Amino acid sequence: MPKIKPALFRPTPANLTRLANQLRRGGIVGVPAETVYGLAANALDATACARIFKAKGRPANDPLIVHLARAADIGNVALTNPAAERLAEAFWPGPLTLVLPKKPCVPDLVTSGRNTVAVRVPAHPVFRRLIKACGFPLAAPSANPFGYISPTCAAHVRDSLGNTELRAILDGGDCTIGVESTILDLSDPAHPRLLRPGGLALEKIESVLQQKVLGPKKSGKLTLGSSAPAPGMLPQHYSPHTPVRLHPALSLKNIQRIPANEAIVLLLRPRQKTLLTPNVFWLSEAGQLASIARNLFGQLRQLDQGAWLKIHVELPTSNEGLAPAIRDRLTRAAAKV
Ligand code: AMP
Ligand code: MG
Repeated sequence: MPKIKPALFRPTPANLTRLANQLRRGGIVGVPAETVYGLAANALDATACARIFKAKGRPANDPLIVHLARAADIGNVALTNPAAERLAEAFWPGPLTLVLPKKPCVPDLVTSGRNTVAVRVPAHPVFRRLIKACGFPLAAPSANPFGYISPTCAAHVRDSLGNTELRAILDGGDCTIGVESTILDLSDPAHPRLLRPGGLALEKIESVLQQKVLGPKKSGKLTLGSSAPAPGMLPQHYSPHTPVRLHPALSLKNIQRIPANEAIVLLLRPRQKTLLTPNVFWLSEAGQLASIARNLFGQLRQLDQGAWLKIHVELPTSNEGLAPAIRDRLTRAAAKV
């Protein structure tokens, strides 16, 4: 049976109105964000949000992030506090998600039955224009089949969510950040806790809060109603079908030992001519963390479509900037169930 592929829509005013109407009627739409592409539905409509879980094959105990057009709308869905307001002022629109006590209008399905809701104002102008055209917040997880590599352009969404209920993707170009948002639990504002490293560096959050942020708790069993602090943060996630092997830093000798039918992904473009072999790839010309993050998922996806027996990837070693987020995604991509 041929795969039914959803259509791509350019962000014209007419298309934004059309897609907002689809969302108003309870439909799902692929949306661009600065982080990764999302699969959006009306966050206040449980039946619409159920379509997201179905299309992704996402388990019901993995709650959704609610996206707002502006920080001033936060009080519509969550109970805010001074720490949250300071962070929103500093980093929204942007790749920071705050977990806060929820308002009753947010369906239990969206929060997986929790009394907290994850909220963010995305920086992608097209996404924000769509939310404004809707007039209601949009729940949107990454637009990939559950567990697979996240999409960083509209074509990735079209290629991996064909044959689902998804019919339309708003094309906003390539994602500029390329990894998901940083998630911070502020439901107890005195004890902010990092739930997921992401597109906003932890040190920037700490400098605004003027306080250390606690690290993620080890997640417990992921059953419904479980008390694991970061639901959905499974050890295996963001995974290509091809096995991934991680390496601290690959020396020339180590690289030359890897067979030609296994791909090697370096962080930095190699200077040695001997390394410019067809199985060697790199994520950044100069090794900057921002471009490594931007290229990471697209490179893994492209290699996963090739005939490589394994994908070897170098891990960034620093604890600054986007390095923890890149390490987190790679570690989960390499994890075995
Ligand atoms: P995704 O949208 O696929 O990047 O995943 C969103 C992630 O946000 C989930 O997997 C959870 O880890 C986290 N999340 C969403 N809502 C909550 C919440 N109420 N409490 C804690 N974590 C949340
Ligand atoms: Mg995801």
